[in-house]
Amino acid sequence: FCSPCDIKELFCTATGLSRYNKEELFQNVLTQVAEQFSRAFKINELKTEVTNRLAMLEKRVELEGMKVVEIEKCRSDIKKLREEMASRNSSAFYLCSSFLDDNKKLTPRRDVPSYPKYMLSQQTIDALRKPAFDVWLWESNEMLSCLEHMYHDLGLVKDLNINPITLKRWLLCIHDNYRSNPFHNFRHCFCVTQMMYSMIYLCNLQEKFTQVDILILMTAAVCHDLDHPGYNNTYQINARTELAVRYNDISPLENHHCAVAFQIFSQSDCNIFANFDPEAFKQIRQGTINLILATDMARHGEILDSFKQKVDYFDFTNEEHVTCLKMVLIKCCDISNEVRPMEVAEPWVDCLLEEYFMQSDREKAEGLPIAPFMDREKVTKPTAQIGFIKFVLIPMFETVMKLFPQIEEVMVQPLRESRDRYEELKQIDDAMNEKKKSENLTMGGKKK
Ligand SMILES: [Zn+2]
Repeated sequence: FCSPCDIKELFCTATGLSRYNKEELFQNVLTQVAEQFSRAFKINELKTEVTNRLAMLEKRVELEGMKVVEIEKCRSDIKKLREEMASRNSSAFYLCSSFLDDNKKLTPRRDVPSYPKYMLSQQTIDALRKPAFDVWLWESNEMLSCLEHMYHDLGLVKDLNINPITLKRWLLCIHDNYRSNPFHNFRHCFCVTQMMYSMIYLCNLQEKFTQVDILILMTAAVCHDLDHPGYNNTYQINARTELAVRYNDISPLENHHCAVAFQIFSQSDCNIFANFDPEAFKQIRQGTINLILATDMARHGEILDSFKQKVDYFDFTNEEHVTCLKMVLIKCCDISNEVRPMEVAEPWVDCLLEEYFMQSDREKAEGLPIAPFMDREKVTKPTAQIGFIKFVLIPMFETVMKLFPQIEEVMVQPLRESRDRYEELKQIDDAMNEKKKSENLTMGGKKK
């Protein structure tokens, strides 16, 4: 219905432009279109400029980035040093507080019920008497119940008039005073004590020893690594730790384990010897200290030689002979993991190596000497175990075997099997390494 002219009129009315302005309007539109075109052309110029600028910025970022990497490295070095210093300070503080302060750590956090909280099944009770017992199946509370059971089962509680509630509290306090190291932790304490308990049955020790001797053997096993810091005597001495200074470099750790043990006994609610007369207490204290100090591997040769001299004419009525045998027994139990079935023993090697590597890493950082058997660059599981089984474990257990032939089948044979297994594993490792070496050689030859 409208002519083009009418539409123009309408448009002008709608946009509020006067009729004579319409020419101007089209002019404006034209100008704008022209500008748009020119901008479109300019965009290419801009693009080039931006690309150039970006390239320059990238270069700067690269250079600055290099600086950033250096700064980051410095920062992490400083952080490591700070942590190192903090850990040194805190460990020094820790030893002070556990040893000298008012025994915060020695007080059990909770008391114990007088009724049985954890009942052991007959199956567990039977298995507990054997070296093949699987020590990995149990939580701390269950291990505590097992330890408690051992004291009752051996007749120690009844015969020596030990307060059963004090026994519970004492064990709880023992648990709280083991640290969560990869190896030297409460489970290791449990293993050593359980092996002692097994040996008491296997070797019929209750027929040959007094109940006080049995109590000393068991209690020394329970206490023998108390508050172990996870770094061995060599580290303590080389790093001149507070422990090494306190004990003049003489078995600093073992002295510390003993001292913590008797600090615990000094608390009346944890003193399982409370009903003993002073003379009996003195004998137990001396016997326990003697056994814990015997676990220092630096004294291995000395103790084993002394036992070898007695074993062929061993006399159970001779106190010196009995004392020496007890020292060898706790030593056997302390390093008895390889006596256990392979599935139980093998994880302990990983735990031990983890603790060793933790130490050698720290020694590297602190510029201290590193033992080759702790160096993660040099040690493998088979190399770590073969020498130890062949030259430490088997000779010691074979000497004990002269006195107790029954340990051959249950303890010595598993050691021989473990030695053979690790030797096979080492052969496989060696063959793999040889193969890798020759592959590298041929690769190198090809490249040349
Ligand atoms: Zn130990």
